[in-house]
Amino acid sequence: MKRIYLDHAATTPAREEVVQAMLPFFTDSFGNPSSIYSYGVEAREAMVEAREKVANLINASADEIVFTSGGTEADNHAIQGIAYGNLNKGNHIITSTIEHHAVLDTCQWLEKRGFNVTYLPVDKHGIVDPNDVKKAITDKTTLITIMHANNEMGTIEPIAEISKIARDAGVYMHTDAVQTAGHIPTDVGQMGVDLLSISAHKLYGPKGIGALYVKKGTDIAKFLHGGAQEQNRRGTTENIAGIVGFGVAAEMAKHELTAEMQKQNALRDRLIAGISEHIEDTHLMGHPLRRLPNNVNMRIDYVEGESILLNLDIEGICASSGSACTSASLDPSHVMLALNVPHDQARSTIRFTLGRMTSEQEIDHVLERLPVIVKRLRSMSPLIKRS
Ligand SMILES: *Cc1c(COP(=O)(O)O)cnc(C)c1O
Repeated sequence: MKRIYLDHAATTPAREEVVQAMLPFFTDSFGNPSSIYSYGVEAREAMVEAREKVANLINASADEIVFTSGGTEADNHAIQGIAYGNLNKGNHIITSTIEHHAVLDTCQWLEKRGFNVTYLPVDKHGIVDPNDVKKAITDKTTLITIMHANNEMGTIEPIAEISKIARDAGVYMHTDAVQTAGHIPTDVGQMGVDLLSISAHKLYGPKGIGALYVKKGTDIAKFLHGGAQEQNRRGTTENIAGIVGFGVAAEMAKHELTAEMQKQNALRDRLIAGISEHIEDTHLMGHPLRRLPNNVNMRIDYVEGESILLNLDIEGICASSGSACTSASLDPSHVMLALNVPHDQARSTIRFTLGRMTSEQEIDHVLERLPVIVKRLRSMSPLIKRS
């Protein structure tokens, strides 16, 4: 059975070019970039080149890139680093209720250590109101962290507006751009952020490598204590192969960005329209327009997302309900609850996230199979409205 992968928000396959570029750095060019002999120089030069490419993707300069082990570490580094690096100024952080757990759990951890955190609500489309951010700022606020786009419902947040408010108040602004870098224009200058997180495996690079953009002049505490790597911000021998792979993935993503956006937008809209047309009682979650080009999140009433997922899997179709980290539990996702949908409806959501290999045939196949599955489930469901 040919599998149809529609869970690109969870992870993406590394490109062939990425894997090929990485391979020599496991064997022939295995040097430690801190060494002064030729092996070290080779590794160092490869790292310099990759750092340029990653910086270029987000329009930063190379010395503003700190490589991390992924998006989670970048978020932890940004939030803990600013919180502890600016204790002399205050102990208040502003975030939203729809952030990824890498942000939410870090904030909750800090709350137990004496920090105060404000969790801002979102509107029915998942948008954070910049006025709410403005009102939440106190003279103790040191950081605002709001994601660029949400991984579950695809809503794109007004980051430039929020950054301006942060800048005017003298507060650092971080954004989790793991779902956006390499997918929609993500330019640190235009967005006006001080810190931004990205992850390679969400843009067809390898797992286990990411980056934190740290604008020049930002006061941030060191994250891993040990060596003086990454401008003395993260001690540990660099993951050279991962960094090289990340560089290639970033360069190719940038090159293909506009074309991919157009292609995926069209397929996304085809899938949304098809589901709405062929299945009764469905609702698009997230913002109808300000959404990621690859995200389709539908509430399909009177069935559990989990049951749809299992039935799609039997047919070789991979999708998601809630986020990958929480899909093992039956609790509705915190993101759906933040939209104020009741518990049972929050459990009736299913997410398809398209990718660069997704074809019209695949979308049409889903549109053929999904209505059959939903009809069958509804016929057995205790949740069904009986008219
Ligand atoms: C995937 C994801 C992360 C975590 O990135 P990892 O590289 O897997 O640690 C963080 N934030 C968002 C929005 C994500 O989608």
